[in-house]
Amino acid sequence: MFVTYVRIHHGLQQKGDTMHSGPTHATAGLHPLDFIGDHLAIDFINTLRTPDGVLYDVFETDKDVRDWLFHAGVSTPKEPVRWPQGALLWKARQLREIALKAVEAMKAGKRPSLDTLNLFLEHAASHPQLVMRPGSKIEIKRVRGSRTLEEFLSPIAEAVAELLADGDFDLIRHCEGEECSLWFYDRTKAHRRRWCSPAACGNRAKVAAFRARVKANAN
Ligand SMILES: [Zn+2]
Repeated sequence: MFVTYVRIHHGLQQKGDTMHSGPTHATAGLHPLDFIGDHLAIDFINTLRTPDGVLYDVFETDKDVRDWLFHAGVSTPKEPVRWPQGALLWKARQLREIALKAVEAMKAGKRPSLDTLNLFLEHAASHPQLVMRPGSKIEIKRVRGSRTLEEFLSPIAEAVAELLADGDFDLIRHCEGEECSLWFYDRTKAHRRRWCSPAACGNRAKVAAFRARVKANAN
């Protein structure tokens, strides 16, 4: 199934600081690296990352997961849900780990284990519904429930499934930044994308190359 999502324009509020030894986290705003993956499933995987070599988790609370889904343009059921506190966070992190392991296996030319994702999808039921649009145009809408956490996270699980089934893994790559763990789907025309962001790792590499040149000239 094709899952639509909107691209977020960056240059927004910086998030987190790098002074902690554990995962860093701040409570509000989007980080410029939040949606650089060019695929919903990859952006989801990228919510755990190591900018500047420091582990950073976008998801620290249930609200973080909901906010991220909102910013990713994923529509979620409106009705109030009453899961135990932390349950959504736990399930989202579980799905993220499943997705990351599968992508890493694919990149390593190994067979990913599909059982865990299939089990997730089994509990992520949704159904099509016909709706009449203005002008009597009939459209098919996908109706998702929120009885289970898997249903709530089903757009992500399906995006991961779609990536594994249809993704071109030559174009799914790591940023070349030395300590950067971000993934992206290279959709550039020439397929020569190297960085998570030209402003982040691309710029760091440029500065490092410039310093090396200066040092070489000085010697
Ligand atoms: Zn990077």
